[in-house]
Amino acid sequence: MQYSAFSLLKNALTGHRHWQPAWRDSEPRSQYDVVIVGGGGHGLATAYYLAKVHGVKNIAVLEKSYIGSGNVGRNTTIVRSNYLLPGNIPFYEWSMKLWEGLEQDLNYNAMVSQRGVLNLIHSDTQRDAYARRANAMRLHGVDSVLLDKDEVRKMVPFLNYENARFPIQGGMLQPRGGTVRHDAVAWGYARAGDQRGVDIIQNCEVTGFRISNGKMMGVETTRGYIGAGKVGLAVAGNTSRVATIAGLRLPIESHVLQAFVSEGIKPLIPNVITFGAGHFYISQSDKGGLVFGGDIDGYNSYAQRGNLPTLEDVCEGGMALMPMIGRIRLLRQWGGIMDMSMDGSPIIDKTPIDGLYLNAGWCYGGFKATPASGWCFAHLIARDSPHEFAAAYRMDRFRTGHMIDEKGQGAQPNLH
Ligand SMILES: Cc1cc2nc3c(=O)[nH]c(=O)nc-3n(C[C@H](O)[C@H](O)[C@H](O)COP(=O)(O)OP(=O)(O)OC[C@H]3O[C@@H](n4cnc5c(N)ncnc54)[C@H](O)[C@@H]3O)c2cc1C
Repeated sequence: MQYSAFSLLKNALTGHRHWQPAWRDSEPRSQYDVVIVGGGGHGLATAYYLAKVHGVKNIAVLEKSYIGSGNVGRNTTIVRSNYLLPGNIPFYEWSMKLWEGLEQDLNYNAMVSQRGVLNLIHSDTQRDAYARRANAMRLHGVDSVLLDKDEVRKMVPFLNYENARFPIQGGMLQPRGGTVRHDAVAWGYARAGDQRGVDIIQNCEVTGFRISNGKMMGVETTRGYIGAGKVGLAVAGNTSRVATIAGLRLPIESHVLQAFVSEGIKPLIPNVITFGAGHFYISQSDKGGLVFGGDIDGYNSYAQRGNLPTLEDVCEGGMALMPMIGRIRLLRQWGGIMDMSMDGSPIIDKTPIDGLYLNAGWCYGGFKATPASGWCFAHLIARDSPHEFAAAYRMDRFRTGHMIDEKGQGAQPNLH
């Protein structure tokens, strides 16, 4: 079923009784050419591009829970390509370009909203750093604008510009950045993949791998054995756990990140704003809720819930930036498990096991990467060679020392 203004009208006039399910509830078959483990954004996007771009016919996505139950449905929805390092810029900019055409490509309303991402500047040193970043972006054809205090004030007059410790001096704006409705991305890719014959199998946890003479043969699941020529892992926060079953030890730790949503208020925040003197980012959803977050909780965990000290820390950032936020009531809060790599950058690579491929290490920036990650992972799986935009995301960089440390923190996964 194609979605269009006509189909909306037709179904509205017939009491919405004829909408079809967005994707089939597939039963597992005994053998697939490619099995993707993990029905998050990255797994579903990979399956879609495998079918669409590479013409692979026999694909399954295995999801231990339901589609969208992981981080793809838990994040704060920010998309941007304001990166500095050469390994990252082309990849994230390609992702941004795919976001820009995504709804037409998938025939699905993912509420892509290029409302702009504004990073605030609070010191001279920070201005230098953002000027450098903005120049690097421009040199790579990515949009960026450096704003002074008055220009920022005109855009978002409600911020606390005269904060004694963290006065706002200006900002760096990426006008093409913004937000995308997170779970709609999972649903859109699931539906579009399904239309191209991808089997999406929910409630199907991978519990083991059959490996013979170093070659991947298939996966053991809670719904029985499934043979596979190739297996792609895209299980985000569960990466270490699932890779361990295959005998792999990875440079990844799992950490909790929380998100917060307030009660709905009238339109206030026109874009995405990040506080430069702490870690706090905020936007407003179309329903009116303020959606915000901050740092990871800082300890290893597989529990999808957060801790109160981090909530306090995030709210402190919010209060420093816009004190009137203290009057609003918090409506919802949740946590997700982040696959934090040692240098804060992802891995899209083959593994030492023939036929097993890895997509991981997204830290807390993997939502914006979803389209490009799926695109490049599909390329790797189909052609057995890395896509040029993901060429830097090799696992051996941790052995050779070629880190992609965007934040400059060193090998501290909890600080990236
Ligand atoms: C609170 C929060 C805020 C965030 N904010 C942003 C943001 O604003 N911008 C941004 O770019 N990124 C953000 N992120 C990060 C981003 O959401 C993740 O990096 C990204 O979603 C991870 O990829 P995914 O969508 O494939 O993961 P997931 O949706 O987690 O998909 C992995 C799937 O694998 C499944 N799985 C695990 N083990 C198995 C198994 N054994 N068998 C079968 N299936 C299995 C899981 O159930 C899950 O559905 C945020 C994350 C969180 C938690």
